[in-house]
Amino acid sequence: MAIGGAVASTAALTPLARARMMPQDMDRDQFVAVVRELRAIVGEDWVFADEASTISYRKSGIPDLRGEHIPSGAVAPASVEQVQAILAVANRYRLPLWPISTGKNMGYGMATPASSGQMILDLKRMNRILDFDAELGTILVEPGVTYQQIHDYIEDNDLPYWIDVPTVGPIVSMMGNTLERGVGYTPYGDHFFMQCGMEVVLADGTVLKTGMGSIENGNTWQAFKWGYGPYLDGIFTQSNFGIVTKLGMWLMPRPPVYKPFMVRSPNVEDVAAITDTIRPFRMNNLIPNGVLIMGALYQMSMFNSRADLWDGEGVIPLDVIQRHARANDIGMWNTFYALYGTEEMIAAMEPILTGAFEATGADVLTAAEMRGNPYFEHNETLMRGGMTLEEKGLVRWWGRSGGAVAFAPVAPAKGVETIGQTELATEIMNKWGFDYAPAYAVGGRELHHIIFLMFDKGDDEHSAKAEQCMEEMITRFGERGWAAYRSSVSTMDLVADQYGAANREVNARIKQALDPNHIIAPGKQGIA
Ligand code: ADP
Repeated sequence: MAIGGAVASTAALTPLARARMMPQDMDRDQFVAVVRELRAIVGEDWVFADEASTISYRKSGIPDLRGEHIPSGAVAPASVEQVQAILAVANRYRLPLWPISTGKNMGYGMATPASSGQMILDLKRMNRILDFDAELGTILVEPGVTYQQIHDYIEDNDLPYWIDVPTVGPIVSMMGNTLERGVGYTPYGDHFFMQCGMEVVLADGTVLKTGMGSIENGNTWQAFKWGYGPYLDGIFTQSNFGIVTKLGMWLMPRPPVYKPFMVRSPNVEDVAAITDTIRPFRMNNLIPNGVLIMGALYQMSMFNSRADLWDGEGVIPLDVIQRHARANDIGMWNTFYALYGTEEMIAAMEPILTGAFEATGADVLTAAEMRGNPYFEHNETLMRGGMTLEEKGLVRWWGRSGGAVAFAPVAPAKGVETIGQTELATEIMNKWGFDYAPAYAVGGRELHHIIFLMFDKGDDEHSAKAEQCMEEMITRFGERGWAAYRSSVSTMDLVADQYGAANREVNARIKQALDPNHIIAPGKQGIA
């Protein structure tokens, strides 16, 4: 894409060395005028428009060899009114704005925009918990509220609820993760399913409350999702149709007893039988939580750098992974599920599940056997909505300048699908020299295959290979009918194409109707 000129002081730098790039089609004088107007709205300190103050918004963790995801700056409003005023300026100058809540979207581009020159609309200052209904277990939050903040609020007020966190929960927002349709690992793990009501500011400044939110004297906004007429919440997830400023969620009542389990399977091919065993129990809810089938290398890459495990040529051989797994008391696949309820309920269900998993040739282990093992404790924490940051370790795999880009194709929850997907991913990744470090998350009836492609971001050649490898994976998985449910900012068009022309066309029409100047996050999910 065409890239505008840099501001005078940094004109000598190459695009890649820059922390910021000008919006496309905007000259320097216009940009200076925009910054002046934005400062008048949010205050001097909350517009970031020079190299130094923009650096943190530029860190993406994904390959960006051509400098295609470099923002022009950032603006951080403190209220809905300020968001509206910023949108008015953006419409006047045709300034593209890329909204983020906390901007920690790991594996998908963090805070960076789909195309260079967009200004980050950083909503971190809007970070209030606006309502917590202790009887209904519902919460209403602003964008910048982190899971840690909600966790602390619950503890401080001794409320009988759990939250459901994604990995790296402490630093990310309930808003960002839910809008991206992320998942967690308690029975409330499908975040969008548990979302109820939102407030959205449209490009023209209109404030829309979805569901029951606009009923005069109403108090049902966080209690009933569907409202009346077309259900609109969905079109504001993974989208650029509006800026979400409030989000309602349901929280899980804290169960009297929680019992986590780990199923240890020795062989790579065991994942098929494990998946077929999980499926009926997810369908009838005997296993109530989002189950993770963790590959040994994914687990080990959270706690080790590659050099700790292997210093030979090429990808890490299977027997080496197997040896390290055994030494750490884990299998090649380790499946985590949990039971929640009273002692009696759990005692009744436990043998049914244990027997079914043991029939696949696996060991079924409890906390009594695995306590103190960091691999077990990581998932044990997630299944009760606890805080972990261990997954951040993935970016250290190749050393300090690590990068990690995620690919998450979905498939029906059938064993045969895991065989095909694991074979294809291993073939492509190994061809490009990358280790296949997978996990499968089993929802109601589908599998999310979570693949983190870890690479050395400090090495351009390695970054280029990561980019090509990711493109090949998306393309070849797509040819087999396996499309991603989410993608990094660098592959949004590629994935959107796989969902077909009619989807793209309808999205484009909605975009044109709601945001005719295309100022909100152009390129998001392939929508211009
Ligand atoms: P995280 O909670 O993981 O830090 P982010 O803040 O990075 O999440 O948000 C992930 C993505 O979700 C953003 O890149 C953006 O596309 C979208 N998004 C986040 N917050 C909003 C919002 N308030 N309104 C609209 N889109 C948003």
